[in-house]
Amino acid sequence: MNNNEILLLKLGEVVLKGLNRRAFEDKLMSNVRRRVRACGSFQIYIRQSTIYVEPQNENCDIETAFAACRQVFGIAAIARAVPCDKDVDAIVATAKQYLSEEFAKARTFKVESKRADKLFHLNSIQISQAVGGELAEAFPHVAVDVHKPDLTVYVEIREKHAYVHAPSVPGAGGLPIGMGGTAVSLLSGGLDSPVSSWMIARRGVQLEMVHFVSPPYTSDQALEKVLQLARELTAYTGRTIVHIIPFTEIQEEIRKNCPEEYFTLIMRRFMMRLAAAVAKKAGAGALVTGESLGQVASQTMMALGVTEDVTLMPVLRPLIGMDKVEIIRMAREIGTYDTSILPYEDCCTVFTPRHPCTRPKVEDVREAESVLDIDALVERALAGETWVRVKP
Ligand code: ATP
Ligand code: MG
Repeated sequence: MNNNEILLLKLGEVVLKGLNRRAFEDKLMSNVRRRVRACGSFQIYIRQSTIYVEPQNENCDIETAFAACRQVFGIAAIARAVPCDKDVDAIVATAKQYLSEEFAKARTFKVESKRADKLFHLNSIQISQAVGGELAEAFPHVAVDVHKPDLTVYVEIREKHAYVHAPSVPGAGGLPIGMGGTAVSLLSGGLDSPVSSWMIARRGVQLEMVHFVSPPYTSDQALEKVLQLARELTAYTGRTIVHIIPFTEIQEEIRKNCPEEYFTLIMRRFMMRLAAAVAKKAGAGALVTGESLGQVASQTMMALGVTEDVTLMPVLRPLIGMDKVEIIRMAREIGTYDTSILPYEDCCTVFTPRHPCTRPKVEDVREAESVLDIDALVERALAGETWVRVKP
């Protein structure tokens, strides 16, 4: 619409931070910088809880930069704005042209002004009155309403230019990635684990993914699907690593030697041991899963207790209290739904017991798996690990 357009990113929860607020802001700016780098050369700086993203030349792709910024955690809202000369006529002319569509839809409006340049001859109230008066004349169908207007026109007077803002849209919220440490997320090909990964990343946590494969029971396409999900998540998380761990031997040993009702639980305990080992090596502080209370037999309270019995690491389960419909809605919003519903098998779905135990006791499961050489199985699985780096 206007090749001078800039982006204004409103900080979210970061503003509640006390002494380390500065560190949060710096991290957020560097995350924004990294994400818009591919869209051209931008100047990026922060003033009064707002990050300014300004194109430095005509080659900048502001549309793509806008879309990218909407996926950066730590930003509550995003608006576009255009610069103009610092006088009321220029501001009014700019608002008339830039916001003509918004004015066409609105029935009431107000002007809100901010004067960063204290030498400007009008104060913020005078600016709002002058600009508002002229806009009311220019758009006679729109009345001024300072309490609940359909449209708020923001005007900002800064050193070199005045800016007229378009209405803001919501950002991704949360905290800047990198401020919350690292966690290892167990990523399957299902609907749940991409959403749980996204929710923990939104709390500022850098993720590494772990995925278990059981060839020949699981296919290359099933793995490719998981890598595709990880790639889709990088739009929010930035680059990440997917650790791929062979799980066939463990599953076959369980099937051969353990009671059927405990197959899934013992398998999940191995997943936790392996993920915890990966986490330790990565310097991560927690595991993340897509488990939700009661969703399947292995996700009852007692089953969850049995699963996490093998590690002292915190197991984060952000979906624990969510319904499947809510999870599906989120999967659609974050863009992983279409990939998740592709019909490839997961290692969890091979060798599933006909009658899984839903009220397991930890001692019984420990006893049932004690026939296995657990350490050797874990060691061999870890020795077979490969990894893939995925980038936005
Ligand atoms: P999802 O929809 O994410 O597959 P689910 O409801 O099917 O989850 P399970 O298959 O019991 O539930 O798995 C529970 C959690 O265990 C998953 O959300 C995921 O975090 C982890 N998980 C399951 N299978 C794998 C796998 N093959 N690799 C890595 N993690 C897995
Ligand atoms: Mg699954």
